[in-house]
Amino acid sequence: MRLCDMHCHSRNSFDGTPSVEELYHAAKAGGLYAFAVTDHCECNDYEKGGFKQNIDDSCAEIAAFREKAEDGVLLLTGVEVGQPLQNPDAVEDLFARHTFDVVLWSLHNLSREEDFYYLTYQNAAEAEELLERYYTELYEMAQLDGYDVLTHLTYPLRYMIGREEIPIRRERFSEQIDCILRCLAEKGKALEINTAGLRKEIGETSPDLSIVRRFRELGGEYVTLGSDAHRLPDLGFGLKAAAELARTAGFRAYTWYRDRQPHLEKL
Ligand SMILES: [Zn+2]
Ligand SMILES: [Zn+2]
Repeated sequence: MRLCDMHCHSRNSFDGTPSVEELYHAAKAGGLYAFAVTDHCECNDYEKGGFKQNIDDSCAEIAAFREKAEDGVLLLTGVEVGQPLQNPDAVEDLFARHTFDVVLWSLHNLSREEDFYYLTYQNAAEAEELLERYYTELYEMAQLDGYDVLTHLTYPLRYMIGREEIPIRRERFSEQIDCILRCLAEKGKALEINTAGLRKEIGETSPDLSIVRRFRELGGEYVTLGSDAHRLPDLGFGLKAAAELARTAGFRAYTWYRDRQPHLEKL
């Protein structure tokens, strides 16, 4: 089976370290067939936070390296668009400036709140209230066009459950999650199986098997695999486990994107 990593970050993300060239050589050494560099574009902080410039730099670095890269690994141009609803003008400007092979939609922070990474919680009730707002906004995002893949669906759980050990009642959110999954299935969008959690405290993919299985039950057709690597050693991390999880969930293939078109790899 050919492995494609549809989510990783270069030094053009504020929290990433590798150059595109380093990523390419790591992908080749790791036996990947393809990978997409998907640097952060946090729309809520697009100009002031330097994300507009970061994506200009990311696309330029990818394009320049593509020119000189020998044949081997397919290097794809992607972007991780954070909080698209919080600044639609940024999304419009981004797409006017660049074309991508794959566009990820993600939600790292609610409006007027910090990234879930930085939040701490008094109790489960407070965390669950934030989680309800999170899934509400994610559902609205899922209904937009302009993206291919919805990333790390259960992102806040990385920190709420994994780091803070808050006893979140996951079943409380199954209806909201169903609405999101149904929307993705109807629109022909992909659900990402993000493996970052496998190397963090929470110890599971985002989303986990139960949600990936539910996506299949609701008619979902496309799942992508993403390491969400920010450091070189994490590129391609856990992709085989994620592929196995997709198969267990009932998928016969996983998906990667080029020129915004889905390609299926048999599982
Ligand atoms: Zn993310
Ligand atoms: Zn990411």
